[in-house]
Amino acid sequence: MHSSLAQAREEYADDHGGRNASYIPALAQVSSNLFGIAAVSCNGDIVEVGDAEVPFAIESISKVFSLAYVIDQIGHRELLSKIGANPTGEPFNSVMAVELHHGKPLNPLVNAGAMATVSLIPGKTPDDIWNTIISNLEAFAGHSLSVDEEIYHSESETNQHNRGIAWLLKSYGYFYNDPDMIVDLYTRMCSVKITARDLAVMGACFCNGGVNPVTGKRVVKDTNVPPVLAEMCMSGLYDSTGTWMYEAGVPGKSGVGGGLLACAPGKLALASYSPPLDVAGNSVRGQKALNRIITEHGLNLFLS
Ligand code: GLN
Repeated sequence: MHSSLAQAREEYADDHGGRNASYIPALAQVSSNLFGIAAVSCNGDIVEVGDAEVPFAIESISKVFSLAYVIDQIGHRELLSKIGANPTGEPFNSVMAVELHHGKPLNPLVNAGAMATVSLIPGKTPDDIWNTIISNLEAFAGHSLSVDEEIYHSESETNQHNRGIAWLLKSYGYFYNDPDMIVDLYTRMCSVKITARDLAVMGACFCNGGVNPVTGKRVVKDTNVPPVLAEMCMSGLYDSTGTWMYEAGVPGKSGVGGGLLACAPGKLALASYSPPLDVAGNSVRGQKALNRIITEHGLNLFLS
């Protein structure tokens, strides 16, 4: 596995396609050359190459883990009725998608649905809810995590669009707590720092039936793993998820910080970090490198 990760990194290190996210100003400052890949198997073996221990903002990949927490709390039927499960076919921060579907966010992996999902996390105070969010991410990563304060402040100053979406959902009855408070917690959640190595461990929990293969602790009920992976198959890479599924054939999840996760259930998780993104907001080098490794190892779920 190490040589296959190293070859993938080597093949695409000089690919300069895509651009760092700039709508969050601090993300535009990160070096575009950083490139790391990690793999974690269901028995906890870890392999990594390149910048796999450089921290980056988890951004949208955090949505998968808050979904896992909330689905464990309320069950998948309730999640379907309160959030939904279908692709929007629109960009990740689309207001139109909400308007086109009678105010329902449609799925938990676009901004609207992810913020509505965070609004379902129980807690009397914002601190209570934050402690649940960070403890849940830490259980998946297997160690303590912290917020990148610069990215958090940069995104807080520029998240008017997300605030608009949250209030719009509230007006339609699809937001389950105070919009301003939840958007702030969601923004902090997106600013949590992880590495490609952390991300591979976090993804391996899903590949391993909901048990963290490194710590041995259960982080999500086994019956809730398939719905979470199904959401990733439908919307993990937003409006280019179909292309990803067509080529990779495994559930994936991207973030505008440059992280990308791919899960091969029962086998291993792959994670990459490379900041330049395509127009849909997915890491360019990450998609190419993970696709290459997935193909080399025959991990596509639809192969017989
Ligand atoms: N925090 C980012 C946002 O809300 C996450 C988007 C992403 O990673 N696609 O816009």
